[in-house]
Amino acid sequence: YHEEKKVLNGMLPKSQVTDTLAKEGPSSPSYDWFQTDSLVTVVIYTKQKDINLDSVIVDHLDDSFRAETIIKDYSYLIHIGLSHEVQEDFSVRVVENVGKIEIVLKKKENASWKCLGHPLENHNSFIPKKDTGLYYRKCQLISKENVTHDTKLFCLMLPPSTHLQVPIGQHVYFKLTITGTELVKPYTPVSDSLLSEFKEQVLPNNKYIYFLIKIYSAGLFTPELDHLQIGDFVSVSNPEGNLKISKFQELEDLFLLAAGTGFTPMVKILNYALTNIPSLRKVKLMFFNKTEDDIIWRSQLEKLAFKDKRFDVEFVLSAPTSEWDGKQGYISPALLSEFLKRSIDKSKVLICICGPTPFTEQGIRLLHDLTFSKYEIHSFTA
Ligand SMILES: Cc1cc2nc3c(=O)[nH]c(=O)nc-3n(C[C@H](O)[C@H](O)[C@H](O)COP(=O)(O)OP(=O)(O)OC[C@H]3O[C@@H](n4cnc5c(N)ncnc54)[C@H](O)[C@@H]3O)c2cc1C
Repeated sequence: YHEEKKVLNGMLPKSQVTDTLAKEGPSSPSYDWFQTDSLVTVVIYTKQKDINLDSVIVDHLDDSFRAETIIKDYSYLIHIGLSHEVQEDFSVRVVENVGKIEIVLKKKENASWKCLGHPLENHNSFIPKKDTGLYYRKCQLISKENVTHDTKLFCLMLPPSTHLQVPIGQHVYFKLTITGTELVKPYTPVSDSLLSEFKEQVLPNNKYIYFLIKIYSAGLFTPELDHLQIGDFVSVSNPEGNLKISKFQELEDLFLLAAGTGFTPMVKILNYALTNIPSLRKVKLMFFNKTEDDIIWRSQLEKLAFKDKRFDVEFVLSAPTSEWDGKQGYISPALLSEFLKRSIDKSKVLICICGPTPFTEQGIRLLHDLTFSKYEIHSFTA
């Protein structure tokens, strides 16, 4: 029992801790556990201050308990076969100023546990995030709503045995088995609407994740996704992506350049920036589409611009009807130089760009020509 407890308390023999990590990466986290009659609390000491509820992803399935904590670009995994049964739901708390994460499990029976359990694969490992595989859990389709002629708003529900919040600017992978083959594609969560208050702050344990997805009738994946019935399941991975939220600190001008479904990362960015960045003076979205019918959430964008004077939206169409009196064409030096006007001289600026690869590449080239530095540009790419 002592041996087992020792390993499970995070005190690994020295040989298992990589030397390079100690020198280059953040210092290695550790964990512990304690219990009351009815609860078991697993505590993760991250030894970092910038930890929040996005930082930890918890899943438990039958007796296997998995908690992955993201610390800078590293992943710390707790993976244990629990010694006793626990209830499906649990709670997660973060004590930000000391970087402590507490996961409170409810015992099925009020018995005293002699040990937490036995280590499973990669338990207590601390490795670069890029070297970890993707972990999937099955999410249920709750609703599906038409947004444009080919784009739908999907609502998925996480299982009660999962805690997962997708950070702003990150995406997840969907996995479906199509005619015997597993297929995986990335999608970017959005808020359920542009006009609701910023949900992540209000409801930290939100179980619903929303996606705006364009269905390609000749596509490989999206027709299958579209065929799912309400109540069906799709596997959803842990989040990935490299937008650093610190880029928004002290920000004064935020410019968003989106084409088609490249609009999806902008949704949470917009909600986040307008709610959480007091220094923000101006947010402008330039939204490129083929026709008016392709514009996702047009009226919501127009309402938001009306409601919040800091926000402006400009639609640019490449194949408009003769009635269209707005901007036309593709991303160009003329469009950008007129659009990217700072609200004050030398303001702190961030430009986010997302769309098909040629759009994004061309956009980045033009932004560099307009002398924006790479620190002022964030591009979303595959
Ligand atoms: C990080 C990231 C985030 C993303 N987030 C979202 C999101 O939030 N919402 C969203 O809708 N999409 C998103 N995407 C795109 C998404 O991952 C898929 O690429 C998209 O859903 C298309 O999937 P599909 O398999 O149905 O279509 P595909 O089979 O990939 O086909 C797409 C279209 O291209 C055509 N096509 C396919 N192959 C060829 C070819 N060889 N020559 C010519 N045409 C061809 C098809 O006919 C179809 O019209 C994201 C992509 C990335 C990289």
